[in-house]
Amino acid sequence: MKRSTILVLAVVLCFVGLTTLAYASDPIHWGYEGDIGPDKWGDLSPDFAACSTGVEQSPIDIPADATVNPADIQFNYQPSNLTVVNNGHTIQANYDEGSSITVDGVTYNLLQFHFHEHSEHTLSGQPGAMEVHFVHRNDDGKLAVVGAMMNVGAENQTLAPVWANMPAEEGDPVAVEGATVNADEILPADRSYYRYAGSLTTPPCSEGVIWLVMTAPIEISEEQLATFQQIHTNNFRSVQPLNDRHFLLSAEMDSAPAEMEAAMTETAPVAAADAPATLPQSGGVTGPGSTDLWFGAAGLVMVIGSLALRRRIITHQDN
Ligand SMILES: [Zn+2]
Repeated sequence: MKRSTILVLAVVLCFVGLTTLAYASDPIHWGYEGDIGPDKWGDLSPDFAACSTGVEQSPIDIPADATVNPADIQFNYQPSNLTVVNNGHTIQANYDEGSSITVDGVTYNLLQFHFHEHSEHTLSGQPGAMEVHFVHRNDDGKLAVVGAMMNVGAENQTLAPVWANMPAEEGDPVAVEGATVNADEILPADRSYYRYAGSLTTPPCSEGVIWLVMTAPIEISEEQLATFQQIHTNNFRSVQPLNDRHFLLSAEMDSAPAEMEAAMTETAPVAAADAPATLPQSGGVTGPGSTDLWFGAAGLVMVIGSLALRRRIITHQDN
């Protein structure tokens, strides 16, 4: 009996292992309303725990008396070919390599920019019609996001190539032949900004993100707003408690004590819509955990084992 029992056990373990592995590779589904909305993100996965337990979360309300930094971020932006994606949560333009910002003497490469409707940050409690986020990452994996409010006003020509090519449905990135986009022209002319330590505004809500929010808004027309709303609407997270944080002056960061600099270079886990374009977006990065890998590996070992055993049984019977 033993052999047949072992064979059955092997097949069962195998099945469990492989299905667990397959299941784990599926992204966790999240959204902006109902059971998968922002209030529930922290419950959807242990990987999303920071969404509910984090104490330095984004976005936040920026009060009228918040510290303003002068225009001391170095923008080294080049035009990029236009690659646009509807990832199910937002419209995102993936940026060609070679554009960066320098903050505190550290270079952060521009990966992508994307949009929220309405804005995520608020100014003295007031939201903008939309908000654009330019997501950057340094060589250590730390993220710096430049945000700008988008108010309704004049038509925005610099965004026209993106608006003309927004995929209506969720799908893979689309490289638009012959179209380019220039992040430097999208940003407001006035580059003064608010700075604070925050998080991704989408699951897994990882903290350790440098937030640089422009004091000046950019404009889009009523028609441009309506065009975006036909694809995504209310894709924003509400403002989070400031807690013990305060608004930072970059000049002070330059002369910060050693332990403060060490804290600043902490590496943020990388994922989700506020995260690099090179990583899966929908549902963030929820790769298989160690348990899943163990089951998967055990399953594969059992497959091989059961095949060998079966071969021995057949051989035995043949004899
Ligand atoms: Zn964002």
